[in-house]
Amino acid sequence: MAEVELTDLTILKALELLENRKITSYELVEFFLEQIKKYDPLVKAFLYVDEEGVREGAKKADELRKKGHKGKLLGIPLSIKDNICIKGLPTTCASKILQNFIAPYDATVIEKLKKEGALFLGKTNLDEFAMGSSTENSGYFPTRNPWDLERVPGGSSGGSAVATACRMGLGSLGSDTGGSIRQPAAFCGVVGLKPTYGMVSRFGLVAFASSLDQIGPIGLNVEDTALLLQIIAGHDEKDSTSFPLEPLDFLNFIKNNLNSRYKIGLPREYFEAEIDPEITKALESLIDLLKKNHEIKTISLPHTEYAVATYYIIAPAEASSNLARYDGVKYGFRYKEAKSLMEMYKKTRAYGFGKEVKRRIMLGTYALSAGYYDAFYLKASKVRTLIMQDFLEAFKEVDLILTPVTPTPPFKLGEKIFDPLQMYLSDIFTIPVNLAGLPGISLPIGLTSNNLPIGAQIIGPHFKDELVLSMAYQIEKELNLKMIPSLLRS
Ligand code: GLN
Repeated sequence: MAEVELTDLTILKALELLENRKITSYELVEFFLEQIKKYDPLVKAFLYVDEEGVREGAKKADELRKKGHKGKLLGIPLSIKDNICIKGLPTTCASKILQNFIAPYDATVIEKLKKEGALFLGKTNLDEFAMGSSTENSGYFPTRNPWDLERVPGGSSGGSAVATACRMGLGSLGSDTGGSIRQPAAFCGVVGLKPTYGMVSRFGLVAFASSLDQIGPIGLNVEDTALLLQIIAGHDEKDSTSFPLEPLDFLNFIKNNLNSRYKIGLPREYFEAEIDPEITKALESLIDLLKKNHEIKTISLPHTEYAVATYYIIAPAEASSNLARYDGVKYGFRYKEAKSLMEMYKKTRAYGFGKEVKRRIMLGTYALSAGYYDAFYLKASKVRTLIMQDFLEAFKEVDLILTPVTPTPPFKLGEKIFDPLQMYLSDIFTIPVNLAGLPGISLPIGLTSNNLPIGAQIIGPHFKDELVLSMAYQIEKELNLKMIPSLLRS
């Protein structure tokens, strides 16, 4: 690939090279497989690499291109979080309970990507069933941050963010229930978008908390992220919560709105929270920069302080019900030495689930149990409505909201894993967005003095994902950062 540096390669750049016959898809794939061989033993982003399948796919893509086929992602190798089904490949959710489970069908997002010719290098690591913020809860192994191998990549889509940052593929899909796309994107210096709830079909995404889960793209820049969203978005009759809306041409929108002026809200409660001073500083310089072209206004989201508590009732409650299906009968792992049916159920779940998943199931079952429902789940649902109303009020005054993604830069492996509350609190700025069902993007805005990525979050009104992308695109152009993890430079 003489024409271009690997670290300059993006989906759009690769498409241009493929179109001009400067490279083949097969070469691209070989190249990314090499990259995986070189870096994955250090960062452990992949649970499964489909070498054979992706090579086959690349050969076909090259033939199709010769015949004039015009898929929007023809021959582009991506990675996919291992809680999204790709037919014929393992889908473990990083849980022992789904060890050896092979997906019998494609998720709708995968069907859509396949239709446009995308290829899949493999399945990426996550916190078991997407429960966590560091990828340390994986039932197999933790993933490491390529900016500092002693630190976590964030989670739960840690594998997807690391695979993208390390150029082990040109982008990825993750899932975000309380921050799982945006937080790892911020920790790894890439772009991650949680679409509006209902924008992307959840069919084929293994359910964690169904009223919060959304699949979204992780990309090397905003353009790639916009293109991926364009392809996966849209109504799907297999998911009754997907919204009957024709997705926009997001890529065109952001290009046509490079000079649009927006009214940007800064929520007082987010900036008054305890934040690492280097993150505050990076946001302040960004705000100064934005003042040139945009109107900046302080706003209030008064129920912010209740968001984490609300989430940790609603998400575990839904999880306890969703995870009831793993009983050793239908799929995955079964404890075979049991002497009775009850013992089989109990031991399958005891051995199959990890600590954090069990904690969530117990929290959720408790919150839903007779006599407690009103005090916990019903109350949390009411507070959720208040949190959503805060945002709806704010969007009467501003077009978009700018916040930090995380209160701290990437923390060390082992630092929070034994203190679940501290771990839960690392999602304080991302969780409200899921509770309200809004679109939110995380994009890199700089580095700490320790050379660790810092992200900013932009939140938009329901189904205004294009505005969120547009603002992010303007910031990206203005800052013009080159985010290459230290590991790739050593
Ligand atoms: N860290 C949050 C949790 O553990 C969010 C996870 C997610 O978005 N999947 O629930």
